[in-house]
Amino acid sequence: MSNISIPITKTTQSKLSDTDFSSLVFGKSVSDHMFVADYQEGAWGDFRIVPYGPMEIYPGNATLHYGQAIFEGMKAYKNEKGEVLVFRAEANAKRLNESAKRMCMPTLPENVFLEALKQLLSLDRDWVPQGKGSSLYIRPFMFAMDNYLGVKPSDTYRFMIFTSPVGAYYSKPVSVKVETTYTRACEGGTGEAKAAGNYAASLFPALLAQKEGYDQLLWTDGKTHSQIEESGTMNVMFKIKGTLITAPTHGGTILKGITRDAVLQLAKDWEQPVEERFLAVSELEDALTKGSLEEAFGVGTAATIAFITKIKVNGQDYLLPEPKPDAFSKRVLLELDSIKYGEIQDPHQWMLTI
Ligand SMILES: *Cc1c(COP(=O)(O)O)cnc(C)c1O
Repeated sequence: MSNISIPITKTTQSKLSDTDFSSLVFGKSVSDHMFVADYQEGAWGDFRIVPYGPMEIYPGNATLHYGQAIFEGMKAYKNEKGEVLVFRAEANAKRLNESAKRMCMPTLPENVFLEALKQLLSLDRDWVPQGKGSSLYIRPFMFAMDNYLGVKPSDTYRFMIFTSPVGAYYSKPVSVKVETTYTRACEGGTGEAKAAGNYAASLFPALLAQKEGYDQLLWTDGKTHSQIEESGTMNVMFKIKGTLITAPTHGGTILKGITRDAVLQLAKDWEQPVEERFLAVSELEDALTKGSLEEAFGVGTAATIAFITKIKVNGQDYLLPEPKPDAFSKRVLLELDSIKYGEIQDPHQWMLTI
């Protein structure tokens, strides 16, 4: 692997001392520096780390008109010794490239992604909060840079990474509504790509659900609205009569969550029965009516595990009991947190030490 040189321009006005680490709001504070790379004439280059700040783009920038934009989301944690650990960074580098292919964008060599991440986090390591529950959210993303209004894949692109400290927050249980009118993803669409446009399309139905008093949606398949898919920013899992059920990811409509993958790996390690299959809305309703739904939770980078306490299905609200301390979802959250903060062995080599 070739050596990558990344010139660094350090900020002269660090925001570190002005940032109140005791009251962080997700996505509001950003760290001092950002990584930038440009794609021109078929190659990535001009790697640099510079102070976080505005950038110039032309009004004709293709992203603004046709939406070639993809992103990733991951987190870094600080252990007791003050070392910075990143959860499954290689998996994010790979997934960025899967999204890139679907959106007709160039792939980024994984070693560039990882080296950029290492150097950026080394420089801004003081921005990684210490303490259980807090972390540094990392946002890698890529977008088109052509200044051209014709509809075609852009010839030029920019890849960037910036980071944002997030405080310890209690992962509040969520209420969800099974969505049967709007569609997040359909077969042959872009659902499995982490594409900006998927989010744009989901905002309106999510807003309607919030007005009705629900935190999030449970999306169903676009064709029949009869099968549960995922929850928009999280994959979703159910435990019914002892079996963990989650949607399979090979059909192109489900985002291949890295948290989902880690939870399934731990389920396997613990010999927890798992079925990767679609759960029918009718089956969910039946399980809720009969009381055989034991656990329901979202899995994703933001909350790791988000316990679901209320589900609306076919106009009816169902309340779920608080998971017991020995519930699978509780145990898996504890295990993942212990791995992420370096408190226990990392049997699957998930953590990258910076
Ligand atoms: C990012 C994302 C997830 C969760 O993926 P993680 O890698 O676990 O954070 C789930 N669904 C959608 C639609 C997403 O964009």
